[in-house]
Amino acid sequence: MSVDLLQTPIEFLKGVGPRRGELLRKEAGVSTYYDMLTYYPFRHVDRSRFIPIAEINSENTYLQIRGKVAEVHLLGQGRSSRLVVTLRDASGSIDLIWFQGISWVKDKFTPGSEWVVFGKPGLFNGRYNISHPETESVAEFIAQPSDPLHPIYNSTDKMKLNGLATRALSKITRTLISQLKGIIPETLSNEIIYEFKFMGREEALMNIHFPPDTETLEKARARLKFDELFFIQIRLLRYKINRAQKIRGNVFGTIGDLFNGFYNHNLPFELTSAQKKVIREMRADLRSGRQMNRLLQGDVGSGKTLVALMCMLIALDNGFQACLMAPTEILANQHYATISRFLKGMDVTVDLLTGSTKKARRKEIHPMLQSGELHIIIGTHALIEDTVKFRKLGLVVVDEQHRFGVAQRAKMWSKSEVPPHVLVMTATPIPRTLAMTVYGDLDLSVIDELPPGRKPIKTYHFYETGREKVYNFMRQQIALGRQIYVVYPLIEESETLDLKNLMEGFDHLKMIFRTPQYTLSMVHGRMKADEKESEMMRFKNGETQILVATTVIEVGVDVPNASVMVIENAERFGLSQLHQLRGRVGRGADQSHCILLSGFNLTADGRIRIETMVRTTDGFEIADVDLKLRGPGDLEGTRQSGILDLKLADIVRDEQMLRAARNIAQKLLDNDPNLLKPENQRIIRYLDYLSGKKSEWAMIS
Ligand code: ADP
Ligand code: MG
Repeated sequence: MSVDLLQTPIEFLKGVGPRRGELLRKEAGVSTYYDMLTYYPFRHVDRSRFIPIAEINSENTYLQIRGKVAEVHLLGQGRSSRLVVTLRDASGSIDLIWFQGISWVKDKFTPGSEWVVFGKPGLFNGRYNISHPETESVAEFIAQPSDPLHPIYNSTDKMKLNGLATRALSKITRTLISQLKGIIPETLSNEIIYEFKFMGREEALMNIHFPPDTETLEKARARLKFDELFFIQIRLLRYKINRAQKIRGNVFGTIGDLFNGFYNHNLPFELTSAQKKVIREMRADLRSGRQMNRLLQGDVGSGKTLVALMCMLIALDNGFQACLMAPTEILANQHYATISRFLKGMDVTVDLLTGSTKKARRKEIHPMLQSGELHIIIGTHALIEDTVKFRKLGLVVVDEQHRFGVAQRAKMWSKSEVPPHVLVMTATPIPRTLAMTVYGDLDLSVIDELPPGRKPIKTYHFYETGREKVYNFMRQQIALGRQIYVVYPLIEESETLDLKNLMEGFDHLKMIFRTPQYTLSMVHGRMKADEKESEMMRFKNGETQILVATTVIEVGVDVPNASVMVIENAERFGLSQLHQLRGRVGRGADQSHCILLSGFNLTADGRIRIETMVRTTDGFEIADVDLKLRGPGDLEGTRQSGILDLKLADIVRDEQMLRAARNIAQKLLDNDPNLLKPENQRIIRYLDYLSGKKSEWAMIS
């Protein structure tokens, strides 16, 4: 009988047992031999090196010291009690502190006994100490196998207190490795291994725990990083191929009267060459017989709406209907107004369906959609409701996709037999590395050019002390006939406080700009939709000069005459949010300005964010800085993508390897889309293994 040794529950490993097995599962997510094998150490220390206590000079780096117990004190009472053991070497002394598990450790440290201590020092009252260090008597230490580099594993306090600190983990891993030696299968083809001069999979897995030297460690890490990135890419690309093979799409073979008529008569300006390029890419998808799944990415103001409209006209030319979904009512209304204007005089019916559409009106719209009389419908989530049925839905355009979940998009699909083509638009610049992973299964089109005549927005940073200057500047701009946004942060945890800030800010501005020639409107998240709407409209129609708002205006709002964006407490906004907000201005022909106001106390990250905004308007550069500051875990969409499962690779730092992995994966699938060739069997077996399917991989008899 064959068993998959790698899937053996970890508790069966010698030296683990049920109690520690349970702890490993709960605390470290390790439930099998294979999980343990891939529970990689996060660093190694040179075991032969002891730091003299007097030379400790920084916090938060692991180090190893050796000394004798000088004093032991039990301080405090009850919950605040702690054990302080003073350890001394020839150079000085340091306190080792325990807050928990005191009864467990206190009897070990008899004065005069000699210990090897390992841990991260912290600084308290000008003196270094180490809390909850790992300790070993010198006798124990000497008895251990002497690896030149000792692996350091993450372990939680709970693990540490229950005998699963890093040294115990390394012991367990050593036992495991001796059992698994010789049976860990290779996952890559010889060709790839040869091309990159990679270490074998098994060798890499052994060496990442117990390397003979740092060079070997680096080679092991590189090999395993590559595997992580490569298999994510293979999975995403196969998913895409699979969909292309299985999912039919309506063929839009005709470019007919509507598209051509619009292009020749209604288009008020020349398309930018970037717009032309993405329209060509979409036309190719639409006539291919496969379902289009395309992400259209273009900076704010790059003219995505128009591109979407032209795509919709292709759908109409082929006898299909189209819909456009926006994340907010304000945006849906705006799209409706823009598109109706564009289509003036053409034989196309367009309507609007949002949460505030009256019941009577809905009753008119629903049958028109079902009969096909209505060609284009624009709206919000309201479009997803089951009562909304189409005669022949051919294209779904989703604006600002990050607010629409994958599930909601899938629901739109089910509205017709052959799934409609899907075009997802976003102005959120997605760093290229992330696009390769998170959106690796969508095709990507990028509008990388703004319509001509736009002047780059000028951005300035002012501290509170510059407020008067800012107000003067605002007055000048209003005198020139311009309009101004003033935005306050509204972050959920402190919503009440922020609302107070907003109100105070509003009152303050009203006082500052109290002469009759200025009027202000205000929009915030607590207002009713119709109130928001009418305040927005007053600003849009030029009745008010200043719009005081929270970030509700972040996405999509288009008021070309507004040319100044003032952002209060700019240090509290994320980079992509700042970029989105700035994108609200610079839409007309006038020079636009963005003013970032902040307090004096900037964090290091806050300073970088503000400096980045002042330095550049390039959305991609901003997105890259953002990714570096925040890490990918925070960004939209990373959760489903598998990149959070990366243990070693980092999509920012390992960008080059990511590209290489993607290229190799692509090349491989171009030659062998279903991975049927013998040399690719290892890859397919490992893929099956990763997806939890029963497979021959790692089976031994
Ligand atoms: P996005 O949705 O990408 O932020 P919009 O579609 O709202 O951008 O376009 C921004 C503005 O630019 C709109 O007023 C639009 O009419 C205008 N516009 C779009 N394409 C062009 C073009 N090729 N030339 C000039 N203006 C354009
Ligand atoms: Mg838009």
